[in-house]
Amino acid sequence: MKKDGVGRRDFMKTTLAGFGGLFFLSALDKQPEEKRIDVKGKGRKLVYRPLGRTGLKLPVINMGVMNSDNPNLIRAALDSGVVLLDTAHAYMQGRNEEVIGSVVKGRPRDSYLIGSKVSLPQDRTTGRYTEGATETEFLRKLDLSLKRLGIDHVDILYHHGVSRKESVLHEPVLNAMAKAKKAGKFRFAGITTHSNEPEVIHAAVDTKFYEVILTAYNYQQKHVADVRDAIARAAQAGLGIVGMKAIRGGFRLSPSVRSPAAALKWVLQDPHVHTIVPGFTTFDQLETDLAVMEDINLNEAEKMELQKEASLPGLYCQGCRECLGQCVARLPIPDLMRAYMYVYDYRNLAMARDLVLSLGLPSGACGECTVCPVRCSSGFPVREKIRDIVRIREIPAEFIA
Ligand code: SF4
Ligand code: SF4
Repeated sequence: MKKDGVGRRDFMKTTLAGFGGLFFLSALDKQPEEKRIDVKGKGRKLVYRPLGRTGLKLPVINMGVMNSDNPNLIRAALDSGVVLLDTAHAYMQGRNEEVIGSVVKGRPRDSYLIGSKVSLPQDRTTGRYTEGATETEFLRKLDLSLKRLGIDHVDILYHHGVSRKESVLHEPVLNAMAKAKKAGKFRFAGITTHSNEPEVIHAAVDTKFYEVILTAYNYQQKHVADVRDAIARAAQAGLGIVGMKAIRGGFRLSPSVRSPAAALKWVLQDPHVHTIVPGFTTFDQLETDLAVMEDINLNEAEKMELQKEASLPGLYCQGCRECLGQCVARLPIPDLMRAYMYVYDYRNLAMARDLVLSLGLPSGACGECTVCPVRCSSGFPVREKIRDIVRIREIPAEFIA
């Protein structure tokens, strides 16, 4: 759609270039239905947004539980105003859902929301589903998740980890989700993506099946203008938008993210994002999030900080998939880079090990090439990082848990 000879997309790209990869929205772009709501007994007023047309209203930050198995932290988050707990069937090999189950046990069911995710076997280099990706397997995993959580339904059930249009439409998943919804096992159908996000988001909107999208979105994404356009289209179509990976590489690091609060606010300045689920793991980080939930506006110092950071080379894989056709062994490089991030930033060795083991790698990954032809668009020394991360396969699980 063109206006005055310049399309929205062109404008975004020009603006991005002008800011060296970063842009800020004007005050005119505020979320019209945003409200401030008191947290009882806490003296805090948190900013809430409606989650698309689901009818749910959520604080702008909720909890990505994936890196935390500390029930006290989850409890503190809920008691401080967090409403939605985001988990997945695969996190911590099920322990993540079990810990959440222990925390919510005895709480009124309408005092919290849970989003969980079910994934099916994929060819990691193509994002296509493989033989075991059946309706039965999806439903089996969902039932096990509900059992671990100790509840009869989750509020949002996500089709987990999708990176191509064809997989958005994978019939066994759509059939399984339709059956599970009819049986009351979840309320809203979602889909998650952290690679090739624009294609997935557009396809999800076109299905008219999904009601919520959970997507990676941050100011360091190279293709951020395309992600942003896709999010805007989805939000305008009435889908709820949940952001993840707002702090690229997480809270713990980050030489490239010195201001986690600013990174969170940057995502929330987009009125089409309804909430985000950062994976905080400490009480201090929870406090950082609560402060952002009270005041989502970027101040001048934070804007300058973000501009500075945006000009630094990224530390983490962008999920652009440009490397995939270059590797002679067809290694799933973006997944391996994600595992690397889990170790060196999230310090979540168990998740990294699970991911690496799930990839079906050859025993001597990267060991046979004398020269690596892969040229990462972000300049990562891919071979070194892969050689480093695959060693995690040799660590016994009991040393990691
Ligand atoms: S060194 Fe590793 S990443 Fe590079 S081409 Fe060989 S197998 Fe692929
Ligand atoms: S080219 Fe680099 S940034 Fe892009 S997916 Fe591959 S490793 Fe990640």
